[in-house]
Amino acid sequence: MHESEFLIVGAGIVGLTIAQALVDRGATKVTVIEKERGLGFHASGRNSGVLHAGIYYPPNTLKARLCLQGNLLMQDYCLKKGLPLIKSGKVIVARNASELTTLFSLYERAKENGASVELLDEAALAKLEPNAKTYQQALRSHYTAVVDNKAILNALHQDLIQSNRVQCLFGAKLLTLFDEFTAQTSVGKIRFKYLINAAGAHADRIAQLFGVGKEYYFIPFKGIYKKLKPSFAHLVNGSIYPVPHLGNPFLGVHFTKNIHGDVYVGPTAIPALGRENYGLFSGIDKEMPKIILNELLLYCTNKEFRKVAHEEPKKYSSSYFYRDARQLVKTLQPDWLMPASKVGIRPQLINVCEKKLMMDFMVVKERHTLHILNAISPAFTSSMAFAKYVVENYYCTSSP
Ligand SMILES: Cc1cc2nc3c(=O)[nH]c(=O)nc-3n(C[C@H](O)[C@H](O)[C@H](O)COP(=O)(O)OP(=O)(O)OC[C@H]3O[C@@H](n4cnc5c(N)ncnc54)[C@H](O)[C@@H]3O)c2cc1C
Repeated sequence: MHESEFLIVGAGIVGLTIAQALVDRGATKVTVIEKERGLGFHASGRNSGVLHAGIYYPPNTLKARLCLQGNLLMQDYCLKKGLPLIKSGKVIVARNASELTTLFSLYERAKENGASVELLDEAALAKLEPNAKTYQQALRSHYTAVVDNKAILNALHQDLIQSNRVQCLFGAKLLTLFDEFTAQTSVGKIRFKYLINAAGAHADRIAQLFGVGKEYYFIPFKGIYKKLKPSFAHLVNGSIYPVPHLGNPFLGVHFTKNIHGDVYVGPTAIPALGRENYGLFSGIDKEMPKIILNELLLYCTNKEFRKVAHEEPKKYSSSYFYRDARQLVKTLQPDWLMPASKVGIRPQLINVCEKKLMMDFMVVKERHTLHILNAISPAFTSSMAFAKYVVENYYCTSSP
């Protein structure tokens, strides 16, 4: 039987960075199991590749504490490894007078979180992003950057292998528990001293194997993108985001120039029918009725979710998607947008008893197991700081 001190479930960015943080603190026997045959099949390989800069999150939340710190750690990592990194910054634009008030609140919040931001008038915005449209003022974030998310996953994986302290097993799915300290996986039993659940969209179900987090459930939201046709990519220099609704966890359809110079527009946050429902019907399984039931429950009881449920599905329509995007960029024409194959699922944790969306990262420790329950955006950005936080606060391995 395979034996390990730490067993980490999930080789997404959260599982890999926690494995690295454990090694940095002296752990010598770590196993990471990943149900897929490679890296980046789910959120960590399907995101926008934006390093956020700590603007949106209420102070004292884990997101506020860890986002900017994680951004800087990841920028350093990319520089050290020679991985693509473009410090393109971003602007947040207001679509009307009422959004200006939120823009000013974001400015104050960002400063409280230590983010580097400035308010721009329309003339200053035009120098940075000549095609961005705003109402009177915009907010500029200096530390926002874009990276190659898959290259980062690959580099982290290489580091772990080279440490000789970590084994990553692919095609290895945690199925159930054989006993308290033994996992039954698709490649056999694995005995562990500590288990860390970093299973992304499946983390709630794994936690429940240990009797943890029974009041929580993930609702999947589908993030679809479009792209600007290459001949129009020059219209955007960095990232252009709208002022978001602060009550929901999504930032709204935005424009991001990625490390290859392609401009992606999206992602949406459309309630989905399965945790891996990337296509129209693919990834829908017998859990669908339960997902719909929870969506209906939330629809009836939660104002923020109701707004999302009304607004987002309309974005399946190209003309609606275009009308939404057009509010951020001057002169955008419908035929400048083309379909993009990238699609992601954003698993959003809800508290079923209180019928609310959980807005912050959530870590629950139960005896020898630890569960990362709500690694939503900006968890990619925050991951390196988050992993240090987890290891320093929950495990006391000796220094190497
Ligand atoms: C469309 C989209 C855009 C986003 N944009 C950004 C962005 O620009 N910036 C940012 O910071 N964040 C962004 N995010 C959020 C970010 O991608 C996620 O928060 C982050 O990747 C979560 O990482 P993870 O390791 O928890 O999850 P995942 O990457 O999903 O990894 C979890 C892994 O666990 C594995 N697993 C699940 N169950 C089991 C099992 N039973 N046994 C073994 N393995 C299992 C899965 O196969 C998966 O590989 C975005 C997300 C989406 C979907």
